[in-house]
Amino acid sequence: MAPVTIDNIRKSYGNLDVMHGVSVDIEDGEFMVLVGPSGCGKSTLLRMIAGLESITDGSIRIGSRIINDVAPKDRDIAMVFQNYALYPHMTVRENMAFALRLRKMAAQEIDKRIEQAAGILGLSALLDRYPRQLSGGQRQRVAMGRATVRDPQVFLFDEPLSNLDAKLRVTMRSEIKSLHQRLRTTTVYVTHDQVEAMTMADRIVVMHNGVVEQIGTPLDLYDRPGNLFVAGFIGSPS
Ligand code: ADP
Ligand code: MG
Repeated sequence: MAPVTIDNIRKSYGNLDVMHGVSVDIEDGEFMVLVGPSGCGKSTLLRMIAGLESITDGSIRIGSRIINDVAPKDRDIAMVFQNYALYPHMTVRENMAFALRLRKMAAQEIDKRIEQAAGILGLSALLDRYPRQLSGGQRQRVAMGRATVRDPQVFLFDEPLSNLDAKLRVTMRSEIKSLHQRLRTTTVYVTHDQVEAMTMADRIVVMHNGVVEQIGTPLDLYDRPGNLFVAGFIGSPS
């Protein structure tokens, strides 16, 4: 676990400026939800934290370490995407073990971590199955398990539930929250669904056109939206 400090980040793709000085302080162990309309820069910001996208200007720190120039594999971050990206030719167990084997972790420790994560996520009976033999919700749990076994300092989620049906989304919301309550890993969770944001977040960052409009608890934003954009976004049906 560690705080994540995003300091005055700018991002340009060629001549196109898509982020204009974004600053967010995420506390150690916090569940921070990043919301905003499509194209506002949520994924770009997450990918910059993960090291999958270069930072045009500004800095990102994890704890006291500036990570701008740290390779993704050395950042101690695990990311869960909406399209699971499980390895189709590997079993659930192998999917979860893969990143740990790359890091040359001892087999016994790998097994221990997998059993533990599988227990938390309800995957214990599914460890020998292949991804194609799983439902959408089970696959997303495996993706979360694969992130969990690495015991990262920071979890990043990019709209992890958007491919699931409405009922499963509600179930998975509370599963992700209870995972967080157990592990207390600092989390940045991206969604464009304001109900998801309001129900899951410790605090919410509202982004719009590459700037931060407001940061606050769900209650802050509900009671005291800082401007019309935030008021409209929070009040809109998902
Ligand atoms: P969000 O995740 O909030 O929907 P993104 O972070 O994906 O938004 O995109 C932010 C802006 O950056 C958008 O205008 C998008 O078109 C642009 N963008 C994202 N990736 C690229 C890229 N590789 N090249 C050029 N523009 C990009
Ligand atoms: Mg996105």
